[in-house]
Amino acid sequence: MSTNLALKDVEAYKTIKVPLWVYENAKEAELALIKKGVTQIPGDVREPQTCPICKSGLEPFVTEKRAHEYLRCPHCGYTQQRFTDRSGEGIVLGTAIGMGLVYFLNGLFKGSTRHD
Ligand SMILES: [Zn+2]
Repeated sequence: MSTNLALKDVEAYKTIKVPLWVYENAKEAELALIKKGVTQIPGDVREPQTCPICKSGLEPFVTEKRAHEYLRCPHCGYTQQRFTDRSGEGIVLGTAIGMGLVYFLNGLFKGSTRHD
């Protein structure tokens, strides 16, 4: 993960190609998020206090468009959307995938200690 992300437009869109089963699981996650709501997601995924990767404190920021709030790690550059009650209104496929990846990183780096 690059700290250069801090200088990039985090709201820019990128295209990725995924296998059909991944796509269909993502659509399923999207529907579940819309139905159950963002508040069903644990707080350490929605609005974590510390970086899931290096455990440094996360800093909130908003973009010029102010469409969403974000959290950034000043140490390693990790960035995620801050999922508030309000962000549930605009849940789309990319948001579901992004939230899934936050879960993934949390699980992968669980138990690791802060290193700086
Ligand atoms: Zn970090």
